[in-house]
Amino acid sequence: MGAAALGLVDCHCHLSDPDFDRDLDDVLEEAKKVNVMALVAVAEHSGEFEKIMQLSERYNGFVLPCLGVHPVQELSSGEQRSVTLKDLEVALPIIEHYKDQLLAIGEVGLDFTPRFAGTDEQKEEQRQVLIQQVQLAKRLNLPLNVHSRSAGRPTINLLREQGAEKVLLHAFDGRPSVAMEGVSAGYFFSIPPSIIRSRQKQKLVKQLPLTSICLETDSPALGPEKQVRNEPRNISISAEYIAQVKGIPMEEVIQVTTQNALKLFPKLQHLLRK
Ligand SMILES: [Zn+2]
Repeated sequence: MGAAALGLVDCHCHLSDPDFDRDLDDVLEEAKKVNVMALVAVAEHSGEFEKIMQLSERYNGFVLPCLGVHPVQELSSGEQRSVTLKDLEVALPIIEHYKDQLLAIGEVGLDFTPRFAGTDEQKEEQRQVLIQQVQLAKRLNLPLNVHSRSAGRPTINLLREQGAEKVLLHAFDGRPSVAMEGVSAGYFFSIPPSIIRSRQKQKLVKQLPLTSICLETDSPALGPEKQVRNEPRNISISAEYIAQVKGIPMEEVIQVTTQNALKLFPKLQHLLRK
């Protein structure tokens, strides 16, 4: 097989967000123009599972679905609260139903930001919800697409204790030294375009070996400009910035991060046959 150049993979984005209801076709066309070859669409709560599965059918092979229960749940009123076991109970049968179509379980994780998880009980319930989803991923032989905020070390420790092997830590906000513990466990770290305005992410990328880095946008969040809707086409901003920090060509960043994504998500192998 020849070493044909691969496109970019957006390893974590929220295409089911209402922000994209109006113009998702255009948004995805723009992504194709900058050579995005696949997008990993993650869920936060069971209310959007059907929508994500529909998107993955409509953009078959281009949008790949992950289902999971996020540590912070948004109510229909817009209010946000820490996840409960009840939220997971509602989600589990739907995840089981779609298990064969899933690329990974996600977005799951821990969020110990005080306004979401102010009490030890809330933190413990987040842990229980995560543990169950790690065990589910192991049973279904699926990777995990993981959120961690103000909980870098607790998240990596829990994943290791639970024996999670294929893990993507998205937009990791912990210290580089903690991230390196994830690297030794074989975990990958995806970097969003907000790196251009985040000192913490710049430091993180300096420390991380390129062989542990993936690209993401977290669209519509974590864009290059605060308060402006982020889009998958902005993934090239992450690639360009990483190339600058590492002092290597952008094309090398694209090829290596895409190979990393293929190792992490075995179901992306179809992209090699294109
Ligand atoms: Zn996310």
